[in-house]
Amino acid sequence: MSRAETYDIVVAGAGPAGATFAYFVSKLGLRVALLDMRRWDDLWGKPCGDAISHHTFTDIGLEPPRGDEVRQHVNGILIYSPNEKTVFRVDGKGYIIDRTKLGQRLVKGAADKGVEVMLETRILGPIVEDGRVAGVKARSSRGELLELRARLVVEATGASGAIKSRLPPEWAVAERLEPYDMNVAYRERRELNYEIENPDYIRIYLNQSIAPGGYWWFFPEGRSEVNAGLGVQAGKGYPSPRNIFYETLATRPELKPTTRVLSAAGAPLPTRRPATTMVGPGIITIGDAGFTVNPVHGGGMSYSMKAARYAANAVEEAVEAGDWSVKALWSLNTEYMRNVGAKQAALDVFRIFLQQLSDDELNYGMEKRLIREQDTYEASASGQLRISAWDKLVRIIMGLGRPTLLLKLKTVADYMKRVRSLYLEYPASPEDLPRWRARVAELYSSYFKDLGIEHP
Ligand SMILES: Cc1cc2nc3c(=O)[nH]c(=O)nc-3n(C[C@H](O)[C@H](O)[C@H](O)COP(=O)(O)OP(=O)(O)OC[C@H]3O[C@@H](n4cnc5c(N)ncnc54)[C@H](O)[C@@H]3O)c2cc1C
Repeated sequence: MSRAETYDIVVAGAGPAGATFAYFVSKLGLRVALLDMRRWDDLWGKPCGDAISHHTFTDIGLEPPRGDEVRQHVNGILIYSPNEKTVFRVDGKGYIIDRTKLGQRLVKGAADKGVEVMLETRILGPIVEDGRVAGVKARSSRGELLELRARLVVEATGASGAIKSRLPPEWAVAERLEPYDMNVAYRERRELNYEIENPDYIRIYLNQSIAPGGYWWFFPEGRSEVNAGLGVQAGKGYPSPRNIFYETLATRPELKPTTRVLSAAGAPLPTRRPATTMVGPGIITIGDAGFTVNPVHGGGMSYSMKAARYAANAVEEAVEAGDWSVKALWSLNTEYMRNVGAKQAALDVFRIFLQQLSDDELNYGMEKRLIREQDTYEASASGQLRISAWDKLVRIIMGLGRPTLLLKLKTVADYMKRVRSLYLEYPASPEDLPRWRARVAELYSSYFKDLGIEHP
């Protein structure tokens, strides 16, 4: 049994990236199909910490989560040093959401405007013809083989890159992830038998011995439920995050008094600078498939949704111009890099440094406020790292005998600046991409050399 259809756009994946894109593009009057292998009651069901900032919604022009889409209103983050003696408090409004409920709102919004939603449909791979993506092959829950052709395929299948991973590797848009540029994360939602204090502050614990190359988190959902988990850098031979969870976290006083495990699952996520290009012939990649996750804190929903918004804008321009070429859709790259990507790339530089630090160095750096609380927020929002009172610190630190750490931090701040500037010079047109890409590779290799490492 097989069926062939032709669309303007096929969106592969209805997670935060695909659903947001479909929602925004639905007003353009195009023929759009939105595919996902999940069921309606499991939409956006991929495991997540479920934390998202309020400004995501105001930034992209989407009504913020409301009613049962919200599990917890958040007023800020507490960041703990490894010995838990220093706690940074970074204020900011956000939510712990019910992903499925928010996903359903967006997918329904898109469907109401004519997007054809095909759930329980597995994408098998791209159709590639004449050097471009011409559609996707998929299989419906009834076993029907679908050949869906389109002018544009939107790759939004998350970290698996179900389309992208099957494209010729020499295509710039098919760039693969190195394992050490990923985290593997595991989380459980649990019902606890005590009352959580200040549930409006989510907690992040830096601790290389518990979560090497990542962190562990405790995100309250009301006073008696929590989303707790950890991310561990991949490609390093560390134990699986699930094993670590049961060996170290499940016995902690915050989690031991558990009455019920509500759900438990893990997944990988990319934690690197953005993809070199999100636009290729007949295809755009957004969300985790386009490496849009914040490399430092691993939050990816916000940037998936922002990339989706820029992608919808680029499509609108393409429709107006009657031109769907790579060049015509290129504004997805330039807009994303200018507004988000340059910052994420700078944070990638910081992430690589953080992953090299010992618990002892993290304790020291936080205790001495080498970077202060407000600068943590500033760095995360803009990708610019300010080292507090540099000159004064140099004198103190030299006296205290930690010059190497401080000097390294200064090097890192300089590279963050250089990488950010380079991403702000992202090429205005596809022809200049190879030259820019070579400059990025050069800058990264000099960074690794200065840090004394081969790769992250
Ligand atoms: C444990 C964990 C905790 C996290 N915590 C946070 C957090 O607190 N806050 C935050 O912002 N981010 C967090 N992230 C990251 C965040 O979950 C992702 O960045 C975000 O979900 C990416 O959205 P996406 O739409 O790109 O991909 P996804 O959410 O992965 O969605 C992709 C969709 O594509 C579908 N799909 C994939 N392959 C196929 C196929 N072959 N056929 C059909 N459909 C397919 C999937 O079913 C899915 O619905 C976390 C990630 C993990 C793993």
